[in-house]
Amino acid sequence: MGSTFQNYVAGEFVDGDSGRSIPVTDPATGVVFAEHALAGPETFEAAVAAGREAFTQGLLTRANPAQRARLMNRIAAELRAVKSDGGRALCFEQGKALSKAEDEFEKAAAAFEYYAGLADKAEGRQIPVGETIIDFTMLEPLGLSLQIVPWNFPVSIAARSIAAAMVTGNSVILKAPELTPIGLHHLARALDAAGVPKGTVSVINALGAEVGEHLIGRDDIDQITFTGSVATGKAILSAAAQNVVPCVMELGGKSAGIALADANIDKVIAAVHGSVITNAGQVCSGMTRLVVHRSRQDEILEALNALSAAVTVGAGIDNADLTPLVSETQRERVIDCVDRGRPGGTIVCGGTVPDRSGFFYDFTVFSDVDPAGPLGQEEVFGPVLSVMAFDEIEEAIEIANATPYGLAAGIFTDRLNDGLSIAKKLRAGQVYGNLWHAGSIAAPFGGFGQSGYGRERGYEAVYNYAASKNIAFSID
Ligand code: NAD
Repeated sequence: MGSTFQNYVAGEFVDGDSGRSIPVTDPATGVVFAEHALAGPETFEAAVAAGREAFTQGLLTRANPAQRARLMNRIAAELRAVKSDGGRALCFEQGKALSKAEDEFEKAAAAFEYYAGLADKAEGRQIPVGETIIDFTMLEPLGLSLQIVPWNFPVSIAARSIAAAMVTGNSVILKAPELTPIGLHHLARALDAAGVPKGTVSVINALGAEVGEHLIGRDDIDQITFTGSVATGKAILSAAAQNVVPCVMELGGKSAGIALADANIDKVIAAVHGSVITNAGQVCSGMTRLVVHRSRQDEILEALNALSAAVTVGAGIDNADLTPLVSETQRERVIDCVDRGRPGGTIVCGGTVPDRSGFFYDFTVFSDVDPAGPLGQEEVFGPVLSVMAFDEIEEAIEIANATPYGLAAGIFTDRLNDGLSIAKKLRAGQVYGNLWHAGSIAAPFGGFGQSGYGRERGYEAVYNYAASKNIAFSID
């Protein structure tokens, strides 16, 4: 057993009031390697009180926007300073490749730099309502934002939301996911080292269900950003509705890539590698369905088989291609979905658990998948790809749009006219052409349907944490 990591509340690193801690497991071995202090109700309330006090005192809002920008740039520098230790911790607790874990800290730093650049550009506008009235809007911060993040990309997701909230001077409580709190502890260290004013950002590791109970009926949290599963999102929305607390919901997906008859197969395979194999397919916007023109199906299945044979399976610390799932429970979910889906598809490769310790699952491809069955509809959240063939393009679009989700979609073709006209018809928050994930913090990200609403990243995210106030002044 290793060290105990603490929560960051009101500018201090503290144990949880409960005296409890959470064991943190290495998914590559199944061995517990650390403990993280667990925040109970008192710690949660202390974080709320500190966040409110900081906002009331205007610790961030009274700062000149350029000062907020400098603070965010310092946070970015500190994130790069903890990238090595933090990346290693994230690799061990989440299972992901070390290079990808370090990249999360790099992306987190990039998020703070991007939003630092917006701190003095979050402007209102002047509205022409007549000669004798001066009418304008001001962008005002909402107050205290509670941000709840999942375990698949905890550090980069947390950073994008905290940074967007800081643009206009909100306070933030970041709720870490139970399975992966240590990477976020390093993020808290970076915030502290950069000198965030006391209480403006707290980072706590609390049980999701307990936080859910704290949320019901309270009026001292002004905004909630939730990234996670649809079921939890709905529970949070119900609690928030009681006090009309605005929410941003970044939920699940079942995203489809469409390979037209002229698709470049290397690009299709790169998209599968980068979103279904990477992070063991625990990627909300991964290309988990591939809708291929029938004339290319055999060729693509052959390439997927070759990919399966070439993929290295192993621990994140060894930078393997296919790393373990985050937990035994997550692997059981994957096995259950695949087993329920088997009658609705033809296995091409995988569908098996490799003979090794840790929570691994083989890269799995099904062809001839029933679009209406479990493999065509459910978010597996594992390294599982469902392939379906189409003859007419309208059929491909219909399949791509026929789930309750609408997170991402993609098209593989060199025919720009076809690609863009299909892009317009796909119901997804982001549509990729000949790639999957452009990856820029500057591009807005979010979903349609049960993939949620609101947009993270990009300029759009500033509006998650600010409201326009309209001022009309008579000068008659
Ligand atoms: P989850 O919903 O189980 O948990 C997410 C977070 O919510 C965790 O921090 C958890 O502790 C907390 N939580 C759980 N119950 C809660 C409750 N009742 N009240 C308040 N908080 C609660 O999701 P997960 O399994 O951690 O993550 C996987 C899911 O996240 C997938 O569905 C994936 O698609 C989604 N996801 C979406 C995006 C996106 O940007 N759209 C990004 C990453 C992950």
